[in-house]
Amino acid sequence: MANLKFQTLLGMHDTLPQDQAYFLKVRKSVESVVNYYSFSRIDTPILEMTEVFVKGTGVDTDIVEKEMYSFRTKGGDMVALRPEFTPGIVRSYIENGMFNLPQPVKLWTMGPCFRHERPQAGRYRQFTQLDLEILGDASASTDGQIIQMSYDILKELSFKNLSIEVNSIGDSECRPYFKKILTSYFKSKKSSLCSNCQRRLKDNPLRILDCKDEKCQRIKAGAPQIVDHLCEACHAHFKQVLEFLDELELPYVLNPYLVRGLDYYTKTVFEIVDKSENGESQGTLIGGGRYDNLVKLMGGRNTPACGAAGGIDRIINLMKAKEVKTLKVEEPQVFLAQLGQLAKRKSLKLFEEFRNAKIPVAESFSKDSLKAQLRSANKINAKYVLIFGQKEALEDFITLKNMETGDQEEIKIDKIVEEIKKRIKK
Ligand code: AMP
Repeated sequence: MANLKFQTLLGMHDTLPQDQAYFLKVRKSVESVVNYYSFSRIDTPILEMTEVFVKGTGVDTDIVEKEMYSFRTKGGDMVALRPEFTPGIVRSYIENGMFNLPQPVKLWTMGPCFRHERPQAGRYRQFTQLDLEILGDASASTDGQIIQMSYDILKELSFKNLSIEVNSIGDSECRPYFKKILTSYFKSKKSSLCSNCQRRLKDNPLRILDCKDEKCQRIKAGAPQIVDHLCEACHAHFKQVLEFLDELELPYVLNPYLVRGLDYYTKTVFEIVDKSENGESQGTLIGGGRYDNLVKLMGGRNTPACGAAGGIDRIINLMKAKEVKTLKVEEPQVFLAQLGQLAKRKSLKLFEEFRNAKIPVAESFSKDSLKAQLRSANKINAKYVLIFGQKEALEDFITLKNMETGDQEEIKIDKIVEEIKKRIKK
């Protein structure tokens, strides 16, 4: 492989025809859930002004600081390939005046995102994300609904061993105070922190809780917990969210150190992971939370909101490892076989006529032998084979073979579409 002239870029992969069935299954499950919950589909451009993510995702995040594909266009604009959906959707909500619609506005989307990360299992540079957003609702039931939907989607896809981790990271009222407490705790252990966290200590001590370094994890285990320092409003909100999760009987666990890597979250944050053993660990499958300040921060009105994002590639990797069955493509009941040059030419036209009549027909025009074509027809279990040979083509009729009974009859070519229509209706 090493001496191939062209290869996919590091961290990017093709989705080959044989993998499309997984995507189809995921899309169908997602659609069944989002439609039930009355979400509308939105599609935003892959390319946005870089500033959308600097402001939205947050200038201090790894995503913006290190991972974003950001570049200057020939026209001189700074643009970025979206590393996530939320800032683009918020931009669209404001730009298209969606605050004038009855609130909340429930939106969903799915598509490619890009992050220049170090590729590893379940971590790519181009990956497909699913995104759910509810804008314009401050109530805890919204958080509950987003978590329930995320869980439902994975359940629909046959994930049985899921764990939902939840936490509250407070808001602008209580978080600054907690940051101070946390900073003084970590300062007392500064020399034992990894070099990244020593730097984070100054601007973003919460992110130390996210660090995967073993030493930092040990120190984290003794750190103060934000749930003990929430203001009254955040505390009440979190309590209600947990009551909803209890009522919904969702298998959640409290993770007091869950902070997630994005700056905009307020109050609830959650992550769903698969706990079963089969397949290489893929990390978080779906994660999200509340972001009550983001719409205002990006120039809109004060709009509370809550959302979730899921990694489709990770979900599909696990579906493959678990050998989850994909949807069976329904094969046509009719097979068109041809023999000889004239018949082949006329077959192409007949094939088009069936398409116009919306009757699925299979063919193998590339094969010349009738035997090989009948083998193909058998493979898809075709009920009828239309045999179009030299004689038929000259005399404008077609031999219709019923594959179940073996009966054959001759039908005028201009009647065959109608005739098939009648028979496959039965
Ligand atoms: P985030 O936007 O970072 O909260 O990510 C949401 C979800 O997207 C994660 O839980 C993952 O499932 C998925 N995800 C994030 N980054 C990647 C990546 N580089 N490759 C594959 N999936 C990813």
